[in-house]
Amino acid sequence: RKATLVAERGLPSVTRSGRRIVLRANIATPSDAQAALTAGADGVGLLRTELPFLDARSWPSYAQHTAALVPIFRCLAGQSVTVRTLDYADDKLPPFLTNGRSDQRLGRGLPLMLAEPDAFADQFRAILTAGAATDLKIMIPMIASAVELAVCRDLLTKAAADVGVTPPPLGAMIELPEAVADIEAIAAAADFLSIGSNDLTCQILGLDRRDPAATPAMAAHPDVQQAIAAVVAAAHQHGLLVSVCGDAAAHADVIPLLVAVGCDILSVAPSVVDEVRARVRQLE
Ligand code: PEP
Ligand code: MG
Repeated sequence: RKATLVAERGLPSVTRSGRRIVLRANIATPSDAQAALTAGADGVGLLRTELPFLDARSWPSYAQHTAALVPIFRCLAGQSVTVRTLDYADDKLPPFLTNGRSDQRLGRGLPLMLAEPDAFADQFRAILTAGAATDLKIMIPMIASAVELAVCRDLLTKAAADVGVTPPPLGAMIELPEAVADIEAIAAAADFLSIGSNDLTCQILGLDRRDPAATPAMAAHPDVQQAIAAVVAAAHQHGLLVSVCGDAAAHADVIPLLVAVGCDILSVAPSVVDEVRARVRQLE
């Protein structure tokens, strides 16, 4: 079966009725990047940037971001690459944000990072420089409102001016119920949307991410699907594409729902790109 799937790498990711679903990869390392290309992914839909910095003792510097990014970007020249800024959410907080306490709930990293605009600017400048040879896009995790996204865009615009490039498209990750509630304004302010179904599902259903009950299949819950439908409707009304980059995008039973509701892009682990392509090609 694996051989059959590999043989289909050259085939387009289209439904039987001819609807194209763009397939991208979720990556965090240089070997992930290579695996994504080998599997025939149409670029990178989610580059997670916090993983090298989970044990950080302070906000990563421009040089540290650059050192982490350059090897990943090396094989991605000319590819569409969507880089996510640091996602220090409550399940992945470095020591300098927890002050040694392990049980506290500091909440999400984005407000913390917006309170440190220099740290944010350093990462933007590093992404813009290291990713200059790619078709670069930047997205912000854990967006709660259009106002937050506007603050991020100001920082990005300034960082782009600093390094002398045109600002790339800026997207919002939709993974909080607050973002779904503000989706009209967020869609009006964003260049694209990406649904973080891992967090969104848990948030809507009141599950802890570490709870074994919190599986990708739970994204099929009607309450989650209703939220996704609202996100897609607002995005399309504003002419934006919507991707899904949580693990539900690779779940055989959830893929038909995501395609039916109008999601344009699925971004999945490199190891399952072949399976997801085959699943899309089965759909009417
Ligand atoms: C998500 O929440 O679905 C997502 C893609 O981000 P992460 O899994 O890194 O939180
Ligand atoms: Mg998330």
